Amino acid sequence: MTALAATDLPGLPVHPAAHRPGLGDPDWAAMTRILVVRPDNVGDVLMTVPALRALRAAAPGARIELLASPAGAATAPLIGEIDDVVVASVSWQRLPGGAAPGQDRGDPDGELVAELAARGYDAAVVLTSFSQSPWPAAAICRRAGIPVRVGTSKEFGGDALTHWVPAPPDGGHQVVRALEVLGAVGVPARGTDLAVRVPDGADPQAPAGRYVVVAPGASCPSRRWPPERFAAVGRGLAELGWTVVVTGTAKEAELVERAAADVPGAHRLVGALDLAGLAALVAGADAVVVNNSGGAHLADAVGTPVVELFAGTEEVGQYAPRTAPATVLTRPTSCTPCRQLTCPFGQECLDVPPAEVVDAVARCAPRT
Ligand code: SF4
Repeated sequence: MTALAATDLPGLPVHPAAHRPGLGDPDWAAMTRILVVRPDNVGDVLMTVPALRALRAAAPGARIELLASPAGAATAPLIGEIDDVVVASVSWQRLPGGAAPGQDRGDPDGELVAELAARGYDAAVVLTSFSQSPWPAAAICRRAGIPVRVGTSKEFGGDALTHWVPAPPDGGHQVVRALEVLGAVGVPARGTDLAVRVPDGADPQAPAGRYVVVAPGASCPSRRWPPERFAAVGRGLAELGWTVVVTGTAKEAELVERAAADVPGAHRLVGALDLAGLAALVAGADAVVVNNSGGAHLADAVGTPVVELFAGTEEVGQYAPRTAPATVLTRPTSCTPCRQLTCPFGQECLDVPPAEVVDAVARCAPRT
C-alpha cells in the first residue's frame, strides 16, 4: 500500500501539533507499546482502522493495544493491527445518571489507571469524535505514567496531552479526523479504507443461496427506521427472489420480529452471532439494509454494498460508508443534526418509503 501524507487526502489540512516546548514529534519507530483510546461503539472502532494501520506502519516494532468499551472490544478479532485490548466501561463515556451506585464517586477509573500503568506504554493516542473531549482520557493516561499523550480538542485542557493537535473541522469524516490527528504528530496516512478480516471459523449461520441482511437495530430510538418499514422492504426483496436475513441482538428480539413480519421465508437471527459471525454473514450477503449503526460500518469494512437509513441525528459526511458501494437515504430537515437519543418530532428525517430502499438494493446488488 502506498503511504499517503496526510496532505494527500482530499481537503485534509495538516495542523502541526502544539508540543510541549522541545518535545517534537514522538519517535514512533522506537516505541514498543502504544495504547489507542477509543472506548465507544463498534462502528467508532471500525472507523479507527485506517488510523491503526497508519500507526502500525510508523511503529512496526510496537505492540498496539486498544482501550475499548465492552461493546467495542468485540471488534478486536477483526482488526489485524490490534495486538491486545484493555476493556473498560470508562466514566467519561457514561451518560449522567448512568453509573451504578457509588460508581460516580471517588475514583471511578482508578483500577483502569493501575492496569494501564502496569502495562508500561510508551505513548497513548486518544481518538475522539468532534463532540467528545480527549481530556478525561488524557488525564487517566498521565496518571498511568504514559509519557507521550496525543489527542485533539478545540478547548485547552492543560498539559494532560503532551501533543495537543488543533481540532479538525467538526463536519469531517471520522476516518479522516483520526488520520489528521496522527498526521500532525508525524504518522503518515496509509489509505482510508476500513478493511477488516473475517476470522477463520466465524459462523455466519447464513441461509443457502443469495441473501440480503436486514438489521433494524441502532444505538438509540431516534436512529431507528420503523421496523414495519424494514418488513415492507423485506417483502419487496423476497418478491425479487432474495432470502431476507433479519438480524439483531437478544435485546432486539422484538424489533427483529416486527421487521421480519410477513416476510416470506425470512431467516431470523436473534442474539445468535458474535461480531465475527456477523462479519461473516455480512461478507456473504448481496447487500445490507441498516440504520446508522455499527452494521453499516461493518458492511463497509467487508466490502458489501450497503443501503443505510440515516437519521438526522448526525451529519452524513461524518459517518457515511466510504469503502463499499453505499446508498445513504435521509430527508433534509431544519432540526438536523439534532444529537437526540429520542426524536421529539415525527422522525421526518427518516421518512423514506420502503420502495425507495428496495430500488436502492436492486441497483447496488443486481440479481443477474
Ligand atoms: S426529525 Fe429532527 S429531531 Fe427527529 S431524529 Fe430527525 S433530525 Fe433529529
